Amino acid sequence: MLDLKRQYAGIKDEIEEAVARVLASQHFIGGPEVAAFERESAAYVGVRACVGCASGTDALWLALQACGLGPDSGVLTTPFSFFASVSTIVRCGAVPVLADIDPATLNLDPEKVEAALKRHRKIAAIVPVHLYGQCADMDRLNGIAQEHGVAIVEDAAQTFGAAWNGKKAGGLGRAGCFSFYPTKNLSAGGDAGCVTTDDEALASQVRRLGNHGSDRRYYHREIGWNSRLDAMQAAILRVKLKHLDDWNQRRRVLACRYHGLLGAAGLVQPQAQSVTRQAPIALLTSLPGAHHIYHQFVVRALNRDALRTFLSERGIGTEVYYPLPLHLQECFLYLGYRAGDLPESERAAREVLALPMFAELREEEQQRVVAAIAEFYSR
Ligand SMILES: *Cc1c(COP(=O)(O)O)cnc(C)c1O
Repeated sequence: MLDLKRQYAGIKDEIEEAVARVLASQHFIGGPEVAAFERESAAYVGVRACVGCASGTDALWLALQACGLGPDSGVLTTPFSFFASVSTIVRCGAVPVLADIDPATLNLDPEKVEAALKRHRKIAAIVPVHLYGQCADMDRLNGIAQEHGVAIVEDAAQTFGAAWNGKKAGGLGRAGCFSFYPTKNLSAGGDAGCVTTDDEALASQVRRLGNHGSDRRYYHREIGWNSRLDAMQAAILRVKLKHLDDWNQRRRVLACRYHGLLGAAGLVQPQAQSVTRQAPIALLTSLPGAHHIYHQFVVRALNRDALRTFLSERGIGTEVYYPLPLHLQECFLYLGYRAGDLPESERAAREVLALPMFAELREEEQQRVVAAIAEFYSR
């Protein structure tokens, strides 16, 4: 599914040099490595500011908190995402409002977003999640946000280097939130994250909130938290940032090859958004405006769980992102959603399967994956 050792083999010397530099400096929190990473990643994303923090979850929480949401503001997002997309809204004291996804991309459906904004008066922000490496339709979402006067905070945890109409993810709203968890396409040697923004005042507030609400030592303007990027992670990220475009480009080539192989095996029907006996695999759509970096390569699969077991018995790793939509999670039942309320998210949860995807994946491995899928459906 993901073999990080292959990535490390290619950059071992550079990483070891970076780690040794931090150890020699004995400067572990903040300092020049962190400042340099923040500068380099802001330049890469094309924004004025980047603030490092301890994780992608914290990035979301800090950015939302810095947007100054009132205690009963609503924040609209998708139920088809990682848990933190919704839990961080609750942590800010705001109320999550969930809208269903577009079955073609599995990202927030702008029509559903618009309908929700009309129904709920108190929505103050939208959190589009750029799922699997593809930006949500940011033209439509920014248009809607402007019309209703709400902020956009991007959950860009899966999209470092992705773009929408030539503009990078993380620079498409008021703030962008990234995770550098080891399985992400830009990954640290542990937990790490950052917030990107063009708004310098927002950046200072994110920085203050992640430093106990203090910008002058031992004097606290507000109550924040301890969420800082450490120098070791920053040094590792600086090395990897230089290789990221290459790796993302290879992911795009691999995705293209999967499309070819699945098509040649007669497993897919072009444009189909549902799975049938004749075409048991359905591909997701990459929108024309999107520069998709395939953080994951996800398909819909007929009889998904049995396929997954079959592949696993042949030593092929797959993953289900995500098996239970967030509106049906036990801890969010109090929000009042029930099964059937967000049907596309619920269908996606039953059908999606992520196939092996990482920059160093080999052609013969992809062929083996597709051959095994074809064998499963030919039985
Ligand atoms: C990984 C992820 C997060 C959380 O990031 P962490 O660094 O694990 O805290 C949030 N949202 C999405 C969509 C993610 O994939």
